[in-house]
Amino acid sequence: MPTDECLFCKIVSGDVPAKIVRETDRTLAFRDINPQAPTHVLVVPKDHYPDAAALAAADEATLALVLKEAHEVAVGEGIADAGYRVVFNTGAEAGQTVFHVHAHVLGGRGLNWPPG
Ligand code: 5GP
Ligand code: ZN
Repeated sequence: MPTDECLFCKIVSGDVPAKIVRETDRTLAFRDINPQAPTHVLVVPKDHYPDAAALAAADEATLALVLKEAHEVAVGEGIADAGYRVVFNTGAEAGQTVFHVHAHVLGGRGLNWPPG
């Protein structure tokens, strides 16, 4: 998908507003518009890749930074010690709806396993 049609590229560029939680030169973390837990933050690379597999294949260092930032979000939200979940929905059957790779950081309540 061209980046000018991608919702999360528009959030990265500032064309679509979002509640920003953290930012690095290569990543952005912002609150999910439809939170599924008391903390529900999305961490994205600023560059466009459709899913985690594509990012892993193209730029391992940025994938690692996304995970590092997910942990920093959890620390900042005060949920790192209690526990939190990082999810990359990959593909339609897994529930991916926005095809710009994003890590969901979920916590602040007990989380069921296995997920639905
Ligand atoms: P996926 O289903 O692709 O794994 O996750 C996409 C996430 O993006 C969903 O949790 C959804 O609530 C969130 N989302 C969709 N549109 C927007 C938006 O415009 N702003 C923000 N902050 N989150 C969004
Ligand atoms: Zn994008």
